[in-house]
Amino acid sequence: MTTALITGASAGIGNAFASQLAARGNDVVLVARDEERLQKLAAELRAQHNIAAEVLAADLTDTGALARVEARLADAARPIDTLVNNAGFGSNGLLHELDVDDETREINLNVVALVRLTHAALGPMVARRAGGILNVSSIAGMQPTPRNATYGATKAFVTSFTQSVHEELRGTGVRATVVCPGFTRTEFQERAGIDSSRLPGFLWQSAGEVAAGALDALERGRAVYVPGTMNRMTAGFVSVLPDSVTRRAAALVIKFSE
Ligand code: NAP
Repeated sequence: MTTALITGASAGIGNAFASQLAARGNDVVLVARDEERLQKLAAELRAQHNIAAEVLAADLTDTGALARVEARLADAARPIDTLVNNAGFGSNGLLHELDVDDETREINLNVVALVRLTHAALGPMVARRAGGILNVSSIAGMQPTPRNATYGATKAFVTSFTQSVHEELRGTGVRATVVCPGFTRTEFQERAGIDSSRLPGFLWQSAGEVAAGALDALERGRAVYVPGTMNRMTAGFVSVLPDSVTRRAAALVIKFSE
């Protein structure tokens, strides 16, 4: 039996990752702050898929709680085969009007926790010459994102970092993949204080679609996976246009989507 640890499993894309990894026969370790939601999901997954589901309630912006999750990943006696670094949030607004402590928490969750958990998981994985890391970034990381300045920068970090680690792992038997979703129906927008009801339906994907494609991409050993035709087209345009155009276009799209 293989085991997957999923951060941000209590909602959205992380919940979909946990359900699909359990359906694919993995035991799961569920990480997020809301213990009650995690226990409910764990009970459902045990009943539906006959797997073991462990709950590890942790605020990953808290150094002590993060260390507990790192220790779980590094525990060679209970190996983790797949780590999904999914927990993340975005702030919305002009940087000079936002709370700098919230911006710092965003960096601590989206970047610092992701790096520390990747590091903790890789030691035992490389020693066993097996395992996979799936890091959740965003197409927001492909260009500057005015009004989401910190968020886009954290996701640019995640995309770059994961691609570097992917290359470092060549020949080790361990995989690293970064998934870059676009608009996905979850609690993300509500938590960011964004009313996205004006955005047309064709721009959106479900959490289930994103998670399924990302898990397949990890299995195939891909470095980068952008789910959805619209998002792949956006990524293609962004890669050929100058920064002066993409940052202004991003500012318009983000303003419209609020
Ligand atoms: P979501 O529905 O808001 O879920 C976020 C998850 O992260 C929840 O399980 C939440 O659980 C957990 N979380 C938040 N703060 C945490 C903390 N301090 N410590 C531990 N867990 C924490 O959002 P989502 O859309 O599924 O987001 C998942 C990932 O996808 C994020 O990295 C996000 O940046 C990325 N993404 C989302 C979209 C989108 O449009 N939805 C697009 C591109 C990328 P608790 O509240 O229980 O802690």
